[in-house]
Amino acid sequence: MKTNDPIDIASHCARAALGMMERHKVPPTPENFSIWYAFVAGRNPELTAAIDAILTGGFKFNQKINDELYERFAVFSQDKAELREVGLRVEEAVGRVLEYLSNASQGTNDYGTALETFSGRLSGVPAPDHLTEAVGAIMAETKTMADINQQLVRSLELSSTEVARLRNELDDLKREASTDALTQLANRKMFDHALKLAIHQAGQDGTPLCLLMIDIDHFKQFNDTYGHPLGDQILKLVARSLTELVQVKDTAARYGGEEFAVILPVCGLDEAMTVAESIRSQVADKRVTNRRTGQVLGQVTLSAGAALYVPGESVGTFIHRADASLYLAKHAGRNRVKSEIDLAVSGKRPDET
Ligand code: GH3
Ligand code: MG
Ligand code: MG
Repeated sequence: MKTNDPIDIASHCARAALGMMERHKVPPTPENFSIWYAFVAGRNPELTAAIDAILTGGFKFNQKINDELYERFAVFSQDKAELREVGLRVEEAVGRVLEYLSNASQGTNDYGTALETFSGRLSGVPAPDHLTEAVGAIMAETKTMADINQQLVRSLELSSTEVARLRNELDDLKREASTDALTQLANRKMFDHALKLAIHQAGQDGTPLCLLMIDIDHFKQFNDTYGHPLGDQILKLVARSLTELVQVKDTAARYGGEEFAVILPVCGLDEAMTVAESIRSQVADKRVTNRRTGQVLGQVTLSAGAALYVPGESVGTFIHRADASLYLAKHAGRNRVKSEIDLAVSGKRPDET
């Protein structure tokens, strides 16, 4: 959330934000602070409405609410601001085009009026002098009209280039807003959206729909041993395998931290297990090396869980079953894939894993 407030305003907002956070027992973390600063500064009407609703509803700020506020208003607020900016520029460009068109139409009207005047003057048998004068005047009017037309063509060309450029910018922004910056996979927001669509589509077509939840094994230990930057490289490596091994109809997403999800439309549980197994084995077969030092870091493994959508169930229940299968795979020793059938065989309910 980038701000350019002058120091006195910024200090005032910062103090007021901290005061309110203390009163409402909101921990003064950088994330919470950014939200409350924006609230005090009145920067985002939706944020103001959300916090006002919590305050007037008498709710208490707990970690869940604080996290939700951050996710909703901080992470994407930059994108939103940029989207608003592009939206305003599109409006301006359209406004300009309308102005050109109305000027041009005024020009055409004037031209028509001028021609009518001449035709009036030329009725009957005009004297040769009048005729010469009228032809000269018509030529002058015609030239003015041609100039206006040419200007209009130039202006419209400029505007259409501008609109095309803005459309590209808008496409880029939309892509960025739905993509995870590190892995370039769909982000959580996009995943939620794609899963809802896939469930709707599966209901309409009566086709099977599967979901994989995938989690890197002992990743904390990897980070602790080799450092966060190398950890990030592993996340990218796993993302590359996912992209390679799923089809265009599928959605591979970074679900959170070191957890990934794959939506597999028109896909039964056996096939989903095959996809998950191919991802698991491809990652496990890689020997990871530190490119900078050449040091061999060894194997990275992941565990996966698969679930088949049951028509009518909620999104949450579906995700929960895939997650429970994933945790069954973790408990069974990691570096393996389990499905909800294994879950049933294990006798565990999804909430028991
Ligand atoms: P398990 O096999 O049970 O999944 O163990 P784990 O260590 O993978 O799981 P845990 O939840 O204890 O730790 C997850 C780790 O993932 C901790 C966190 O540092 C790391 N992580 C999450 N997001 C990122 C990231 O963006 N980059 C890096 N490098 N590490 C991350
Ligand atoms: Mg893990
Ligand atoms: Mg995890």
